[in-house]
Amino acid sequence: MADWTLEKIEALDATDPLAAMRDRFHIPDGVIYLDGNSLGALPRATPDIVDNLIRRQWGDDLIRSWNTHGWIDMPGRVGDGIARLIGVGTGEVVAADSTSVNLFKLVIAALRLRPGRRRILTEEGNFPTDLYVMQGIQDLLGDAVSLEAVPAADIAGAMGEDVAVLALTHVNYRTGAFHDMAAVTAMAHDAGALVVWDLSHSAGALPIDLNAADADFAVGCGYKYLNGGPGAPAFLFVAERHQNVVQPPLSGWMGHASPFDFDSQYRPAPGIGRNLCGTPAIIGLAALEAGIATFDGVDMVVAREKSVALGDLFLGLMEDKCGSFGFQLACPRDGVQRGSQVSFSHAESYAIMQALIAKGVIGDFRAPDILRFGLTPLYLRYRDVWQAVEILARIMADEAWADPAFQARNAVT
Ligand SMILES: *Cc1c(COP(=O)(O)O)cnc(C)c1O
Repeated sequence: MADWTLEKIEALDATDPLAAMRDRFHIPDGVIYLDGNSLGALPRATPDIVDNLIRRQWGDDLIRSWNTHGWIDMPGRVGDGIARLIGVGTGEVVAADSTSVNLFKLVIAALRLRPGRRRILTEEGNFPTDLYVMQGIQDLLGDAVSLEAVPAADIAGAMGEDVAVLALTHVNYRTGAFHDMAAVTAMAHDAGALVVWDLSHSAGALPIDLNAADADFAVGCGYKYLNGGPGAPAFLFVAERHQNVVQPPLSGWMGHASPFDFDSQYRPAPGIGRNLCGTPAIIGLAALEAGIATFDGVDMVVAREKSVALGDLFLGLMEDKCGSFGFQLACPRDGVQRGSQVSFSHAESYAIMQALIAKGVIGDFRAPDILRFGLTPLYLRYRDVWQAVEILARIMADEAWADPAFQARNAVT
């Protein structure tokens, strides 16, 4: 790929079918943002939407807004907005709580649908909160369940008649490698197990078709590719066939069939709504709704093509310009097998990332030694990738990362 020139890269930007989408976002001057997979950029529409919600709806209309501005319907309405991005229909998704809490709810709901089976199977190297939540479930339920984390290649071999739930993250946060959702789901179903997918690194990044994969349950994150803002509500999906049989473990009043009857007995709501627990975070949901609107009119197949092309360009330029600096590829080379990110390992990756951030190239470091660059096709240009690699090459050639200022660890990496 040694024949890349800035002119050729600018030509890619000129013919990019998604080029206009960048205007939907506030991208600060001097910043190349390669971290939309950790915190999506601010949509331009969000400040006014949130301002209106706070000043007019909350400020002037007060508690009436639950009805007049449809606040009470927001978890379902925002969920319906996410549905298109993950290949499901209306009434199959709600936006609520955090991904961790939703995973807790759905793993237990799935376990309850498979009485007599005690194994929960997951992947070694799954995202830590997913592992921690399942460890907590094991502690809570004691001998009734047994949690096993196995390498990705061993999942099929570990599947068996005693597995109740297989809980996997679709795209791996470190490597960007992803599972074949339909094949893995079919393999688990053949053994009678249910599957809970975590879509945190795939919703809004790859085309997902949960219903075509015959998926049972899914959770995902609102603040990454969905651009919902820091700590945005997460989402959860329950396939229609399970909706009226699942027993939510967090049986709060917002999941009650009739919360405003103030009945003393819990009765689950029909449908997806029973998976809600407490009062929805309305300000957060309004920002998440604005984040999802950045996908209006976007064909996820086109977004995926651009994401693969951005990743291929990144890897090609790294070989050209940074090939002698000791980076090891830590993601699949083949774009078809890679989520919307590229990653590399390097002994000095923390300091290198700090040096990059100081130059306005924001990616992230993931322990122990990974440099990760998220590729968000809605607001990233080909020329941003070019420039990011140019800046990285300069940092490596000058050993700018060796500055002691880049060694000190922050609380959030
Ligand atoms: C980001 C992420 C989460 C985040 O969980 P929260 O409870 O929202 O903090 C969970 N799982 C995966 C796989 C993630 O990538």
